[in-house]
Amino acid sequence: MTVNLLDFDLEGLAAFCDRLGEKRFRATQLFRWIHQKGARQFDDMSDLAKSLRDKLKVNANVVGLPILSQHISTDGTIKWLFDVGAGDAVETVFIPEDDRGTLCISSQAGCAVGCRFCSTGHQGFSRNLTTGEIISQLWFAEHFLRTHMGKSERVISNVVMMGMGEPLQNYSALLPALRVMLDDHAYGLSRRRVTVSTSGVVPMMDRLGKDCPVALAVSLHAPDDILRDNLVPLNRKYPIAELMEACNRYLEFAPRDFITFEYCMLDGVNDTPAHAAALVNLVQRSPRTRVNCKFNLIPFNPFPASGLLRSPQVRVLEFARILSEAGIVTTVRKTRGDDIDAACGQLAGDVKDRTGIQARISKQRTVMLKPV
Ligand code: SF4
Repeated sequence: MTVNLLDFDLEGLAAFCDRLGEKRFRATQLFRWIHQKGARQFDDMSDLAKSLRDKLKVNANVVGLPILSQHISTDGTIKWLFDVGAGDAVETVFIPEDDRGTLCISSQAGCAVGCRFCSTGHQGFSRNLTTGEIISQLWFAEHFLRTHMGKSERVISNVVMMGMGEPLQNYSALLPALRVMLDDHAYGLSRRRVTVSTSGVVPMMDRLGKDCPVALAVSLHAPDDILRDNLVPLNRKYPIAELMEACNRYLEFAPRDFITFEYCMLDGVNDTPAHAAALVNLVQRSPRTRVNCKFNLIPFNPFPASGLLRSPQVRVLEFARILSEAGIVTTVRKTRGDDIDAACGQLAGDVKDRTGIQARISKQRTVMLKPV
């Protein structure tokens, strides 16, 4: 059976080469060809011995995900929809800015967490992506963009695991993929330029801190458990105080870092000055939950099934002002790629509702939309 070499980090590739009777330095050469040069044909790997290339042709391949569509926004944002089989698709987004190029990567087809404001969450969970399926999004995008832009050097400087799925619920595939991103023989991204975003899977935050302490973003979206239980159902398992303690344990492995709290601004739900003041209290004043952090306020991208609306800009700015005046670094995320269907999961949103989650959400919606 042939194996896809995109499934391996360098250690995995070295073990594979060992099984073929090849030395470790061959794995490094192969790794560079695949990830630094984007090669997919073994015959193109000109410094590999012909005998090794022949062995590889029999035992291995380098195969990315098939592309279903590509959308290019007027602001330069590019979204790809990749086919992961069985009627499922995942999204990858490239966001160019003056000083960086960020790629947003998916980790699962669908998502089991079911956040109320998330288009992916409304689709239910289909399956975990493999390491190869995660890394092939970066592999494809980096080499596509280099060709497209006529560049020979790196185009993608930052990766955020903020696409479809909860990355920490697919940890065994995520970890080797992160190692490929950081490896100097592959993409060589610095630890702080790779961000894992989680809805708060506390035990896996602890594992990630020990195994590979990249930058961590936490989807917070509410200052108290009653509201967060409603918006991010995982909160019922790992409530806010436990989450904050896990954030502080994580920072012990990345001492000069901070946690980025993502906060999706939902009209009349979590966006009042009282919510902002409660957040300040949570992350600055309460001894148990105080954490070194910054906030990223995210304009909600409405989609019909959510029943939610985007907060008016004036309220977002007032919210940001309250946090900033309390000394918390706060940014308001620019909306990008609006003309090519903005919210994560919207392009893939034609997939079926696998878990009946939309019906459950509609039942709960009356509770959540009560004015606060
Ligand atoms: S916000 Fe993230 S964790 Fe929540 S449902 Fe969407 S993809 Fe899953």
